[in-house]
Order: sequence, then structure tokens, then C-alpha cells
Amino acid sequence: MKNTDILISGAGIAGPALAYWLREHGFRPTVVERAPALRPGGQAVDLRGAGRTVVERMGLMDDARAVALDQRGIAYVDDDGRIRARMGADAFGGEGIVSEIEILRGDLAEVLHRATPPGTEYLFDDTVTGIAQDDDGVTVTFEKSAPRRFGLVIGADGLHSAVRTIAFGPQPQAVRPLGCYIAWFTAPADIDLDGWYMMHNAPGGLVASARPGRRPGEIKAGFGFRSDPIPYDRRDVARQREIVAERFACVGWEAPALVAAMREAPDFAFDAMSQVHLDRWSAGRVALLGDAGYCPTPLTGLGTSLALVGAYVLAGELAAAGGDHRVAFGRYEEVMRPYVVEAQKLPPGGVGGYAPLSRFQIGLRTASMRWMTRWPLRPLIAAQFAKAGNIALPDYGRAASLSS
Ligand SMILES: Cc1cc2nc3c(=O)[nH]c(=O)nc-3n(C[C@H](O)[C@H](O)[C@H](O)COP(=O)(O)OP(=O)(O)OC[C@H]3O[C@@H](n4cnc5c(N)ncnc54)[C@H](O)[C@@H]3O)c2cc1C
Repeated sequence: MKNTDILISGAGIAGPALAYWLREHGFRPTVVERAPALRPGGQAVDLRGAGRTVVERMGLMDDARAVALDQRGIAYVDDDGRIRARMGADAFGGEGIVSEIEILRGDLAEVLHRATPPGTEYLFDDTVTGIAQDDDGVTVTFEKSAPRRFGLVIGADGLHSAVRTIAFGPQPQAVRPLGCYIAWFTAPADIDLDGWYMMHNAPGGLVASARPGRRPGEIKAGFGFRSDPIPYDRRDVARQREIVAERFACVGWEAPALVAAMREAPDFAFDAMSQVHLDRWSAGRVALLGDAGYCPTPLTGLGTSLALVGAYVLAGELAAAGGDHRVAFGRYEEVMRPYVVEAQKLPPGGVGGYAPLSRFQIGLRTASMRWMTRWPLRPLIAAQFAKAGNIALPDYGRAASLSS
């Protein structure tokens, strides 16, 4: 087997999943993560379609169910908190807007990290600073660790991937903002959600939301708003909190309480909702995986499925090619590209469906929610949710069968 030593940048969802499958196929992965430990933050991510199949093949379904959220579904509420429309978690066979198995992102990252076999090397609190490729491998320099040699480097380091920037150069067209910003954080459970993921829209494309958390006493809150690009420093969290607070100063429902909670939240995260589009996902001995290569945005509900399926296919193709990256990276793209292209198509209504601008549009969107489970909308919506399963997952066997 060629290229047995593989560096993975990023210990989010894609990174640990890839490390698991590489170890299953007999490779030796090392994972470098910029954060000092696994990042606990984030809201619910969905285990859908082929993403769920990959978790099943990892034997992790019981672990995933054990940390799944207990939610009744999604409900749109007005200024006074009255429910105007809702969709239960059982709609569309458990694959609706709120799917049957939703897991806090941090919990899923932990389940995947625990599943990587003992001996898998993790370098926390560090980042790749340089990648020099030659015929035999890659010399990687780090911010803190000493330089090391690897056969291949995989960038699984999310939307703002450092590996993508280093190996592919500046790609101004690759990250495409959708004109919407989002913030996530944990808040005290002072709002009576009655088990619902509640969402409140206000004119101007403003969205405040709160959903049940998994631990007693906490809920998971979010803000979203439509906007042209805002200049801000990604390390200046205080300024980011201010940007959000200013936008939501006059919004009703529970927005004032959520803004107050946001100011104190230890896990506050803020970002522009953006997709990543690249003509190629590899450059020599470097390849991209998950959000780093093909972020679809949370609007699609498919980012986690793409990361899990991508990890499974990339590791499987490397094993099938005996570690020959030129063959494997090409096959990885062939298998994944059609799945990614479909997943990146936004659901009906796009950003406007999530954050309508006017009261009239909010009314229309709320009414459409009542009709989604009925003809003629039902087949259109069902097609969006069915995308998660639109890939025939190859069976790559495991190391034992390869070496026998
Ligand atoms: C804190 C956080 C919260 C999120 N919350 C949600 C959510 O609520 N809903 C939703 O739909 N999606 C959320 N996402 C995105 C979601 O996890 C991804 O869309 C999807 O699961 C694909 O996973 P990924 O592993 O490709 O990327 P990510 O989950 O983003 O993981 C990337 C990892 O790479 C690490 N990293 C970044 N830069 C470097 C670097 N230079 N060197 C080393 N490591 C680096 C990050 O710390 C992170 O651990 C969140 C992501 C993060 C990081």
C-alpha cells in the first residue's frame, strides 16, 4: 500500500469520520485540529439518507440515537409566541425539515472521535502553515509542531479551510456568500418551547430561533439575517455579538431575552452563510473533504451527510487504489460530484424561504408550511429531502478482506 501516512486537517465531522475509515483500511492517519479540544458548539445537524447509512456501517447508530435530540418538530411563531404553522418530526417519513435523528453537532463530533481506534494520533491546538509536495510525499509545516512528512494531506477544516488556501491558492470565486449571516449559541432554558424548534421571522429578513437542548436547563438558540457583505474581523467575537444585537434590537417574540443570552454565551459562533464551489477537489497529493471542498450551507440540511459520505468514499477509493492518490482522488470526485451538485441546490424558496423580507412574504412562507405535506407541494418538498439518499454507496470491504 502506498501513502500510508495521511494528515487530516480538522477534527469536526468529516475529519474523524475519515480517520475512522482510513484506519479500517489499514492507513495511519494523523488529525490536526486548530481548537485546543473537540469543539462542543453548534446546533442540530441531521443524519439523513446515505449519511445515516455510513453511520450504520460504522456501527454507531446506537451511540447516535443515545445523543439524539427529543424534538416534536418545527413551529413558526408570531410576535406573541403563538404557533402559526408547524411540521412534526414524523413528516415525510421522519425526513422532513426537522428530521427524525437530529444531533447536536458537538455531540456527533464526539461520537465520531470516540469511534476512531485507539492509537489514532490527534494534534490539538495546532494548524498547518505550509505544504511542500514532491514525487514521494509532502513536507508539512505546523504553527507549533515540528515539520513532518506525510504521503497525502486531506483538508477537512471547514468553510474557511487553511489547507484549501495553502494548496489551491487564493480562490476568490470558491466561497460564495448567500447574502445571509447566522449566529449560534447556547442559552438558558427560560423559554417554554414545549418540545418544538421555534422560529420567528421579522420583516427585513430577520430570523430568531430556539430549539430544545439535550442537557437540562439549556436551549440552542440562533439568529439569522439577510445582509450584503459586512466587513468584520473573524477573531473579534465582541464585535460579532454587537453586529447581531444591533440587528435584533427591535424584534419581538423572545428576541430580547435571546440577545441578552447571546452576550453571555460561551459557545457563540457567527459566520456568513456560504457555499464552496471548486472545479477540482484535489491538487497533487492534497484533497478536500466536507465543507472545505463543497459546503452546501445549513439551509440544505445536507452538510453532515456530504461530510460523512465523502469520508467513506475517499477512504474507500484510496484503499481500492492501493493508496495511489492519482487514481483514488479521481474516483472520489467521480462518485461524489453528482451527489454534491444536487445537494448544493437550495430548497424551494432558497434564502427567502428561511428569511423572508416582508410581512407579506412571511405570511406566504408560513402558509406554504401548512401546505407542504399536501398535494401539489408535497412531491416538490419530498424531492428535496430525498436528495440525501441520491448516491449508491460502493462497498469497499475492510482492511482484513483487502490483505487476504
Ligand atoms: C463550531 C461549529 C458549529 C457548527 N454548527 C452547525 C449547526 O448548528 N448547524 C449546521 O448545519 N452546521 C453547523 N456547523 C457546520 C457543520 O458541522 C458542517 O457543515 C458539516 O457537518 C461538515 O463538517 P466538516 O467536518 O466538513 O466541517 P466542520 O464541522 O466545520 O469542521 C471543521 C473543523 O476544522 C477545524 N479547523 C478549522 N480551521 C482549521 C485549521 N486551520 N487547522 C486545523 N483545524 C481547523 C474546525 O475547528 C473544525 O473542528 C458547525 C461548524 C462548526 C465548526
